[in-house]
Amino acid sequence: MTSPRRRRLVAGNWKMHRTGPEAVELIQQLRDGYTPGRAEVMVAPPFTALESASRALEGSGIALGAQNVHWEPQGAFTGEISAGMLRAVGCTFVIVGHSERRQLFGETDAWVSKKARAVLHAGMRPVVCIGETLADRDGGRTLEVCSSQLHGSLAGVAVEEMNHVVLAYEPVWAIGTGRNATPAQAQEVHAHVRELLVRLFGRPVGEAVRILYGGSVKADNAAELLGQADVDGALVGGASLKAQEFLAIVAAAT
Ligand code: PEP
Repeated sequence: MTSPRRRRLVAGNWKMHRTGPEAVELIQQLRDGYTPGRAEVMVAPPFTALESASRALEGSGIALGAQNVHWEPQGAFTGEISAGMLRAVGCTFVIVGHSERRQLFGETDAWVSKKARAVLHAGMRPVVCIGETLADRDGGRTLEVCSSQLHGSLAGVAVEEMNHVVLAYEPVWAIGTGRNATPAQAQEVHAHVRELLVRLFGRPVGEAVRILYGGSVKADNAAELLGQADVDGALVGGASLKAQEFLAIVAAAT
């Protein structure tokens, strides 16, 4: 069972799905079935749907997140979006370092740390993703890879900023594959990550930071995963696009 000091967070990563009107429709379905409770809830639509999603979420108790950000505040960066722009549209969370960005778009730990710091400086909370590939796991390198990503992705983040940071452990082999980590596999990595946080930032910070699990979380495996001591919530991809499924995951976290 998660420490009572850490409020659970269930976050939906909609990836490249839903136009503005489609986002509003999904949010309406979520609102219809959602009662604000002990767990915090966030949805992260694509950039083009953020403005309408922001309006549709007003007064719902569900937070708005973005899926990516550029670290510079403005400038000649064609196709990029700044943290200030996301804040202005109503975002309070930004996912950084998702494995799809790392793998498909060449995002490095150094970039992830710049993005995380830009999000913090804009007054939002970064959800910093780490996770090993199947080759890493099969090669016995899971903890080493996660440690290295954690160090690199949090480089330059100050201790006092850490209470605004959320981590997400997302084994790459479990994302979008229907094959989730077992609760024991998730707990092993989460406990390791927490020990690292304690070493890097001190025990109070290490014990307060939320570590989400992501990778094929669904209504029927959420309770077991969330039942682990160091699993403080879920980052949900595919299942976050189905209102009833996502609400069932939220209920399992509440
Ligand atoms: C994700 O995209 O962060 C994710 C965990 O996806 P899925 O739930 O579909 O595996």
